[in-house]
Amino acid sequence: MFTKNEIIEILKDDSKSEWLFSLADKTREENVGDEVHLRGLVEFSNICKCNCKYCGLRKDNENADRYRILKDEIIETVKHASEMGYKTIVLQSGEDAYYSEDKMIDIIKAIKEYDVALTLSIGERSYEEYKAFKNAGADRYLIRIETTDRNLYGQMHPNMDFDNRLRCLKDLKDLGYEVGTGCLVGLPNQTVESLADDIMFFKEIEADMVGIGPFIPHLQTPLKDAQKGNFTLALKVMALTRIILPDINIPATTAMETINPNGRIIALQSGANVVMPNITSLKYRAKYEIYPDKICINDNPDKCRSCIGAKIKSIGRTVATNYGFSHNQG
Ligand code: SAH
Ligand code: SF4
Repeated sequence: MFTKNEIIEILKDDSKSEWLFSLADKTREENVGDEVHLRGLVEFSNICKCNCKYCGLRKDNENADRYRILKDEIIETVKHASEMGYKTIVLQSGEDAYYSEDKMIDIIKAIKEYDVALTLSIGERSYEEYKAFKNAGADRYLIRIETTDRNLYGQMHPNMDFDNRLRCLKDLKDLGYEVGTGCLVGLPNQTVESLADDIMFFKEIEADMVGIGPFIPHLQTPLKDAQKGNFTLALKVMALTRIILPDINIPATTAMETINPNGRIIALQSGANVVMPNITSLKYRAKYEIYPDKICINDNPDKCRSCIGAKIKSIGRTVATNYGFSHNQG
């Protein structure tokens, strides 16, 4: 286990990257094995009441072409994904109040008719709502802390509250969800010291899943002229997270592949053991533009499934056929 100072040194010194990536790969192999878990991602609404400075779905982006996918169409997508062999469905959206507690419960129950684990990624909700979603059958929840630097968090998230983000993570843990969190790498004014704090935070809250992605500037946001995140630095944060939390699930994120054409495979060989292929129907994909140049926006779900399956096989790994619950024993 590294100290915070050691983490900072490693993050600053690129001459140690190769050593770090192979150590993370070995840690992954010894603790969670060679199987790669696929989670089918449904981006079911791009409507958002928040204004996160980095995100193309932010409320003030008037150029976003907004959509909502309703229950029946979500279920069609889930049915098809389950037929393709997906064992986990991830429902992700902006913070869209249209999907009330009752509407979400209805959708969750219908999805759980299929033989799948269900992850929600729909932002900040009350304890009562999280509880109701859990009772309806949701298994996991993803909500990134984005950065543990309170000051930077405040700059990036107008009208949001860092403490409420922490409250959400705590509530989800208390309710027995498998909890996924994570951070952005390369936000303006972010320091390596704060990235080290992010990694320590993942350990402290006993995250079951941690997703790390480089920040990618979106032209219709206040950060349009900011520099994009560095691939190697994001990969190093991910690799350190694997070494410090050996048995959790770590996705090779889509953002990694967006800034490096082989990003997901490189990530799978540097500590990651999960991939989240997009299973959203083609007609909506391009509109879920969190950041520009997202991969696979012209591919249908079948194409994504076979493409990633082949890539995983090409590096000697296998696609898991179980639900892929976390090994994290706390
Ligand atoms: N609204 C939900 C889920 C959708 S956003 C939420 O915010 O939790 C999912 C993730 O996309 C966010 O957690 C954020 O880390 C990432 N994201 C948003 N804008 C991004 C950008 N410009 N570059 C890279 N990742 C981004
Ligand atoms: Fe909304 Fe999530 Fe984007 Fe923030 S990151 S604007 S909450 S979709």
